[in-house]
Amino acid sequence: MLHQFTHKLVNSHAMIIVGNVNAKALAQTKLAKSVLDASWTTFRAMLKYKCENAGVWFEEVNEMYTTQTCSCCSSRLSSPKGRIGLGIREWQCMECGTLHDRDINSALNILALGHERLAGGIPVLRN
Ligand SMILES: [Zn+2]
Repeated sequence: MLHQFTHKLVNSHAMIIVGNVNAKALAQTKLAKSVLDASWTTFRAMLKYKCENAGVWFEEVNEMYTTQTCSCCSSRLSSPKGRIGLGIREWQCMECGTLHDRDINSALNILALGHERLAGGIPVLRN
């Protein structure tokens, strides 16, 4: 199943950006079962080598605070935090009023981080 899913992702995208989920650390918490079930480490490794073989850009970014940061205004004042906050799937930013789905907001922040890294990695040409 992982082979089929990663194959499909790599064949339908030119660039894939993932967060640096620390599966080993999460496996030592109460979230262990879901982390191990999801096979995060295997999935990410498979995705990376398939991207490299297919010429698809693969970028891994530090995902710290990506679930807590508003993807519209960058505020972290009103987002759910800590272990208790993990159960809250939707929240509204009190700064800009945007209603967020936790996973989509996090994905938008990871995408933005990947783009910043790409922009920073492009050499400036001087004549
Ligand atoms: Zn906001």
